[in-house]
Amino acid sequence: MNIELFRARLLTEQNQIAEAIDQAQRASATVELDQSSVGRVSRIDALQQQALAQGLLMRLNNRKRKVEAALTRVNSGTYGLCCACEGDVEPERLNADPASVFCQMCAAERQ
Ligand SMILES: [Zn+2]
Repeated sequence: MNIELFRARLLTEQNQIAEAIDQAQRASATVELDQSSVGRVSRIDALQQQALAQGLLMRLNNRKRKVEAALTRVNSGTYGLCCACEGDVEPERLNADPASVFCQMCAAERQ
């Protein structure tokens, strides 16, 4: 297993997430500034957009934590080991999602 490849993929994703979080935060901040100056319908619109931005932020932050946890495992030499049974996580699972935490069997048990 090429750990450096996964490390590179995780670092790239970490940068992309940081940028996306930055944009989503600016989007919801803009909505707040506009709220006093817009009419009722636009305000409802703005609130809906803010809710969307907040939902997006929550998902991005969850993903950020997963990616950071995976990078921690890379650095501590436990990357690719299942967090439940400590067996190997299947390479195809890591290819599909480099932040995978569980092997196929343990992931299935948790669903
Ligand atoms: Zn497992």
